[in-house]
Amino acid sequence: MHDAVRLFAVCTLLTLLVPCPGRAEEPMKPSTETTETMSEPNALLAEWTGPYGGVPAFDEMDLALLEPALEAGMAAQLAEIEAIAASPEPPTFENTIAAMERSGRELNRVFTYWGVWSGNLSSPEFRAIQQEMAPRLSEFQSKITQNAALFARIEAVYESAERKTLRPDEQRLVWLIYDGFARNGATLEGEAKERYAAINQRLAELHTRFANNVLADEEGYVTYLGPDQLGGLPDSFVQAALAAAAERGREGELAITNTRSSMDPFLTFSDQRDLRERVWRTYYSRGDNGDEHDNNALITEILQLRDERVGLLGYDNYAQWRLEDRMAKTPERARELMETVWKASVARVREEVADMQAIADAEGAGITIEPWDYRYYAEKVRKAKYDLDSDELKQYLQLDKLREAMFFVAGELFDFGFTPVPAGSVPVFHPDVRVWEVTRKSTGDHVGVWYLDPFARPGKRSGAWASSYRGHETFDGAVTPIGSNNSNFIQGAPGEPVLISWDDAKTLFHEFGHALHSLSSSVAYPTLNGGVRDYTEFQSQLLERWLTTDDVIDNYLVHHRTGEPIPDELVAKIKAAETFNQGFATTEYLASALMDLEYHTTDPAGLDPDAFERETLAALGMPGELVMRHRSPHFGHVFSGEGYSAGYYGYMWADVLTADAAEAFEEAPGGYYDEDLARKLVDHLFTVRNAVDPADAYRAFRGRDARMEALMRDRGFPVPAETSETAGH
Ligand SMILES: [Zn+2]
Repeated sequence: MHDAVRLFAVCTLLTLLVPCPGRAEEPMKPSTETTETMSEPNALLAEWTGPYGGVPAFDEMDLALLEPALEAGMAAQLAEIEAIAASPEPPTFENTIAAMERSGRELNRVFTYWGVWSGNLSSPEFRAIQQEMAPRLSEFQSKITQNAALFARIEAVYESAERKTLRPDEQRLVWLIYDGFARNGATLEGEAKERYAAINQRLAELHTRFANNVLADEEGYVTYLGPDQLGGLPDSFVQAALAAAAERGREGELAITNTRSSMDPFLTFSDQRDLRERVWRTYYSRGDNGDEHDNNALITEILQLRDERVGLLGYDNYAQWRLEDRMAKTPERARELMETVWKASVARVREEVADMQAIADAEGAGITIEPWDYRYYAEKVRKAKYDLDSDELKQYLQLDKLREAMFFVAGELFDFGFTPVPAGSVPVFHPDVRVWEVTRKSTGDHVGVWYLDPFARPGKRSGAWASSYRGHETFDGAVTPIGSNNSNFIQGAPGEPVLISWDDAKTLFHEFGHALHSLSSSVAYPTLNGGVRDYTEFQSQLLERWLTTDDVIDNYLVHHRTGEPIPDELVAKIKAAETFNQGFATTEYLASALMDLEYHTTDPAGLDPDAFERETLAALGMPGELVMRHRSPHFGHVFSGEGYSAGYYGYMWADVLTADAAEAFEEAPGGYYDEDLARKLVDHLFTVRNAVDPADAYRAFRGRDARMEALMRDRGFPVPAETSETAGH
């Protein structure tokens, strides 16, 4: 999920239920549903057929197949793992580690469809299956991670003389697998081990309920407006809101849906303050309405269980456990980085509020700036200071042209060419989805396949995201990557171009960065495609910078009617406005990121999230004119799963790397298209994925660690005199 704010690319990857390599204590019995479908092979489990080494059978997706497919996929992987663990041969890299990498193929295919149902085609029926399967999948994972015989073999390989004779990437693979098991309870025994598994199972259920509660509040609370309540709203927004209301059977009204993509423009443009307040309160109350979708009690239970679980492993708190294998390494280092930036960013909020209050006073509005006024008056300041009209800007931002621009950048930096696949040759899960073959431009060699699902529809999760359907690997024969980008643009009238906002254009590049990261992978083993969470946003954030390069501006940012390139003075204004409102953007983000770390370093016994949030913000000195980007009861990054828990700081960590790497390009003789630096970028920062330690990879690219000053300069904050904090070790 990417809800874009200018420098903060916020995504949730589909982290839920990525199967761990592993094994079972007892083979799982096939369920009755499996027996029922025995006569006909389950399409979700089947080997992919068709071009490009096989592609997902999206045309055969049937929810009735999902549960039996999951059960059969789990049973198959558990049997594979059991065979590895029970092997009479002495443990070796090949018969243990490589064999584990080979396991779970069928289940992985099911997860590709699962991801599409979850993100692109969600429905109450799917969510019911998800809710039911979450604890079973968690139990399955535990059976692998807590398998003593398997772990003994992994440990033996990890400690063997053989390990030192392996290739560096294979040595790293052994370490990643060993460490993943040890950090996830493999060393536990007896009661502790049982408790560990029970906690995981309960957490999986709570995470799913948390996410579904937020979704229910996004779907359940729609603000309907009449024709006399449109003051200030741009025509494009009115049209979209009319369509959204008509879809819900309320022809002639406007539907302000309870999502960021609806709330944000409404608060920016509506000149009716009481309506702004209403929409603001509805949005920031998601999961906090004291009804059956309220998430407060879930937060407390989640935090307590996480704390108890890492206690079993001997850690003081959850954040300590979580950050140990991240680039930041400790909660203290992450907090130190954020607190330095926090001071500068709150000081900037005070300046921004003063500017806005001056405008309100000059208008004789007779108000004091409140959180529902921030975006509205910021837009006025933007117009006054930078004369940058978002709607004018949009005229130069056509979705199709931006996609071509991304292809151009991928061609220049990665030597990638994109060709639409022949009609009908690759199945899609919705008629809006389009598919391209990716080849190496200079040789014509096949690289992978890329899907694009650009438009909003009911049942599609909000925001934008990238997902990988199949990862690159070579250890058992070459497998090429397949991935997708997904967003929620409003489809234009037939024949009319889809015009998008500047933030959305950045998001588009950002998510494409994730896709390029998957497509350029050169790793040998599936596990090495995995990411280090405070590092994997860096590549995609960096890619956003190419949106404002001259080649893209001159050739792709062209007016949708006249075809004229965007005027120089408008570009100059965009660049001048880059640091605009950074107080707001940085502070709302940091408030959420610091809150996340506080939650996971505090003893959660008896914790009341509502009071905790209020008191923590007060202690931080949170300005009253804005709120956390994600308030606790809907902070899905942190409570819908564990991908970003105690890890939301990672976006800023990645921002430091991004700002520092961008300065490398700015200093290079060929600028952003410098050939030598582009090669280093691809070789050290993209293709290796997790086959190399991120700190080493960054040093190989830059010749040194990243420096925090680059981030401060980037946001227009004063650079503290004495710091030379680095994010590289
Ligand atoms: Zn991202």
